[in-house]
Order: sequence, then structure tokens, then C-alpha cells
Amino acid sequence: MLRTLIGRVVAGCLVVSGLFAAPVGAQSVRLYDTEYVGAVSVARSAGLASTWAEPQRRLVLTDKDTRLELAADSREIELDGLRVFLGEPAVLHRNALFVSRVDRDRFLLPILKPSSGRGAVPALRTIVIDPGHGGKDDGTVNAKLKLREKAMALDVALRLEKLLTAAGYRVVLTRRRDTFVPLPLRPAHAKKVKADLFLSIHFNAIDNKAVAGNETYILTPQYQRSTGSDKRSPDDKVMLTGNATDNWNAILGFRMHGTLVRSLRSFDRGLKRARFAVLRDLDCPGVLIEGGYLSNDAEARKIATPAWRQKLAQSIADGVAGYRAALVEARR
Ligand SMILES: [Zn+2]
Repeated sequence: MLRTLIGRVVAGCLVVSGLFAAPVGAQSVRLYDTEYVGAVSVARSAGLASTWAEPQRRLVLTDKDTRLELAADSREIELDGLRVFLGEPAVLHRNALFVSRVDRDRFLLPILKPSSGRGAVPALRTIVIDPGHGGKDDGTVNAKLKLREKAMALDVALRLEKLLTAAGYRVVLTRRRDTFVPLPLRPAHAKKVKADLFLSIHFNAIDNKAVAGNETYILTPQYQRSTGSDKRSPDDKVMLTGNATDNWNAILGFRMHGTLVRSLRSFDRGLKRARFAVLRDLDCPGVLIEGGYLSNDAEARKIATPAWRQKLAQSIADGVAGYRAALVEARR
């Protein structure tokens, strides 16, 4: 459950311009109080061909390994078969499709071409695993099946710790027992141990009990709305500590989400963005994993089995391996 994680946005003072170099052929236009660039500039920078799947409505960018589909007036895109959410909808302007500059520079180009990033490629030695909730905070609960999110998240975290330790990482948990850890202390813990990566593990709940599947969250980039928000807010403009790694968060989130959805064969609820308390104060790349819906009895019964939780832990470890491969690619 993620509602409890949304906290007050803390004001920052740093402002950075694009983390990525302006691509060749970029034409910039201001639409709806947002800077937009031609989707063709994404294609050129990432070496993709672009064709209309539906004239002036759906644009597909492809090469032999990649397929990106953008649709006018939609924040949802399809990238290599995954549901992914941009910060701003793509817009049809003068018979061409445009995406926001922030979506291009801090999200799409890092994912499509990790080596196009500016700045140092992050290290990957120390990984902090953050089992959600704990102690007086149960998280979400399936009363019928007597399942509590805090217990499921801790169990997966301990399994993941073993896998990542065996893979050679230094692994630190924000809690190892059923104890309450205030939200601000979780990213603070990561900072204290000089974490290179932060993985927060949760399970979801919603009133509609038919809903099931995986969601993966990264911190909302500066100047953008979170996926759950239709309206802009002055807080969107604030540069949070975690926004310094927007491009690496994008790569991490995309690799992690793809691995989870494919290996668990779960319903794809999307790679989304939110300003969660545990993500906004991080000084390393981070992701929040919603491993499934405890409010869906069929999914909750799966989550209740140790074998499924081991599979989830293994999938997260595989997601870390995918992120590591992207970092190697980025160094080329
Ligand atoms: Zn939760």
C-alpha cells in the first residue's frame, strides 16, 4: 500500500538543466506551459526509425531490438511490450507528435541509450533493501487470509538479501525484524551506509478486488506530475535530492519492471512515478516495487506461499542484474 508513503514535498534549492545533451534536429515548442520536443528527436538520438501506426495519432519508433509506441494525448506508452507512464502526454502539433523535453531527456533517452548520459555512471556495490512498514504499521492487510503486508515484505527482503549477498554485493536492510521504522529514516539509513542502490518492497491494495498485478515506481522527475495526479502543483517544480539521479532511476525502474512482469507473468500495472517519502530523499538510484495485490484473493494466495515469495525475490535480484548490465552499457 502506497498511500501512507506520500508525504510533504521538501523544498530543495538546486536546479539542473537537462541531464542529457540536446539531440540533433531537436525542435522545441512551448505547449500547455511545458517545453515539448519532436518525437523524431527521440528517434534520431536513439537511432530508431519512426512510422505512423495510425496517422497523426500513434507513432512507432523501432530498431531490431526496440519498439516504442507513443499515442497523442496519452501519458501511457508501450516500450518493448511494457506499460510505461510519461510525465506529460504526447501531443500532436502541426502534424507531428511531440513529447515533453523532460520525458525525452530524463526518461526515454536514458532507457533507450544508457551511454548517452552525462556525468559519472553510478557504482553498484552496496544495496539497501527496504521492507515496507513494520511494527505498529501493518501496511495493507488481507483479513480473510490473515496476510499482512509488513510480514510479506520482510520475508521477501530476507530472501533477496541472501541472493544479492551470494552475488557479491554488500547488502543492508532498513529493518530485519517486525519493528516500526519512520519513513525519513529509511533513505537516511541508505545515505549513512553509502548505498549505491535502494530497493523498497511493498504489496498493494485497492477497493476493486479484481485488480491484480505488478507496479513499479520511481521518483517523479522535477517539473512533472506524478502518475496518480491529473493536475499540476507548485511542488512539481521542486528539485528533490532524489531527482539528481532521474536518468538512472529511469533505467533502474524500466529494467526492474520488465524483469518482474515477465518472470512473474503478472498483469502489467505499469512503470509509474510518485514522490514517495522513501524515494525523494535518496542520494542514490532507487525504486519501489509493488509485488502484487493483497486485496485480490487469488494473488494474495500466491503471495502467501514461500515458493512464490522466493520467485519474487529472485526476480528482483534478476532486475538488479539487468540494471547492472545497463550500467556496463552506459560506460561504453
Ligand atoms: Zn506498502
